Amino acid sequence: MTEMFCFQCEQTAKGTGCTIGGVCGKKPEVAGKHDELTAALIGLARAAEGKNHNKSTDELVMQGLFTTVTNVNFDPSRVDELKKRAESVKIKFGDAKDFDPATLFHGNQDVVSLRSTLLFGLRGMAAYAWHAHVLGKDNPEVTEGLYKGLRAVGQDHSVEEWLSLIMELGQMNLKCMALLDEANTSTYGHPVPTKVSMKVEKGPFIVITGHDLLDLKELLEQTKGKGINIYTHGEMLPAHGYPELKKYPQLKGNYGTAWQNQQKEFNDLPAPIFYTTNCLMPPKSTYSDNIFTTSVVGYPGLKHISEKDGEKDFSAIIKKAIELGGWKEDKQFTGINGGTEMTTGFARNTVMGVADTVISAVKSGAIKHFFLVGGCDGAKPGRNYYTDFVKKTPADTVILTLACGKYRFNDLNIGEIGGIPRLLDMGQCNDAYSAIQVAIALAGAFNCNVNELPLTLVLSWYEQKAVIILLTLLSLGIKNIYLGPTLPAFISPNVLKVLVDKFNIKPISTPEADLKTILG
Ligand code: SF4
Repeated sequence: MTEMFCFQCEQTAKGTGCTIGGVCGKKPEVAGKHDELTAALIGLARAAEGKNHNKSTDELVMQGLFTTVTNVNFDPSRVDELKKRAESVKIKFGDAKDFDPATLFHGNQDVVSLRSTLLFGLRGMAAYAWHAHVLGKDNPEVTEGLYKGLRAVGQDHSVEEWLSLIMELGQMNLKCMALLDEANTSTYGHPVPTKVSMKVEKGPFIVITGHDLLDLKELLEQTKGKGINIYTHGEMLPAHGYPELKKYPQLKGNYGTAWQNQQKEFNDLPAPIFYTTNCLMPPKSTYSDNIFTTSVVGYPGLKHISEKDGEKDFSAIIKKAIELGGWKEDKQFTGINGGTEMTTGFARNTVMGVADTVISAVKSGAIKHFFLVGGCDGAKPGRNYYTDFVKKTPADTVILTLACGKYRFNDLNIGEIGGIPRLLDMGQCNDAYSAIQVAIALAGAFNCNVNELPLTLVLSWYEQKAVIILLTLLSLGIKNIYLGPTLPAFISPNVLKVLVDKFNIKPISTPEADLKTILG
């Protein structure tokens, strides 16, 4: 296979679509397998309609969708295996029409746009549902929403029906994110403000990245007393705020920055790197032997740790850490602005805990505006907008942040207002629910709706988990969102017009101009 079509992420080729190879490194063969897997899942969902589906089928649907998210799985044999399982389960359910993968991204431009928006949103929601599921939390309504959404992707609809399905999915994802929030906080406690060091101590260590807190917890258990330190990378940084994770003394700090810097930051690293979810970049040969993947993550030739009898054995990673030995001396690293420390753990419980102080500060005029500057980081130029934006925000404003876009500014010390830090890291993209709850609580305190708050969302997107969060925000009626660094290629001009007319969604311009428009 030499041709492909994929336009699901922000870095898509020429801003229109990857056709001869993915900018992410996805080869045409894998892109084709992703489409076939998606079609097989649509067939399965059709066959399962009105019938009971068991845990194993639900897991297949979640994993199958999650597998097709950007930078998750580049291994054609693993994707093919999931497709075959989906086809075989479909047959067991009985007769249902197959879906032709060739039709996924073909046809009327607006229909392709709407179908893609629904599909990419589903992929994002499946990732969040999976994280909750591994912690033993499922919401049948959310699981059923995945099946329903897959069937809808495979059907014809009017534009109004597509839009309604997309908003319904956004609403469903709010339930999914609430489920994940409950799963995380009931398992690991509510995050608390925590300073995270960027120093790597001498001796053996392991770097863990991705979003899966259960994998981190297991790794911490299995490295207990072994003289191996653990450092988070990328999206795993917010793990430091959870009481049940931070209690492990070997969880020392954070190494590196966001996912797109992997090839530079992992080159020559004397430690294994453990990928629990996206974003996996094609590894260089200089460090590929040190990588371990798990769960839905895959790349040909990398060592993969599967679950056996409900357990994962990380002894191979531990052995590799001892073999590589780490650095001989402590090494102090910095963030992209030169800072040596970051603070995380300002999730909803902590922020609501100081709600009275925040509300008084707003009433007294000490806090004039809130910005939620959050979302994914990425490799394309233009993302320094977010660093500059935060640097230029006035001293009487507060910045809430989440997801790995924060690495653009989370080592900056931008001060406090009445004891409240001006920069509050609420967690991973997985913790968007926290930010939504804080916004709703503030609106309640000021007796207004979220759109009337002195709050502006300035979002950066990259992949499909950001897509579903955006759909959730829109489904909540949140308007005037600034989105960048570029608008999604899969949004057609007509669909964009609907979003602009209905939600006043705007592309970012320059920090100066946007701040002027927002603050007047
Ligand atoms: Fe291109 Fe993004 Fe698709 Fe990769 S995931 S092939 S970069 S559009």
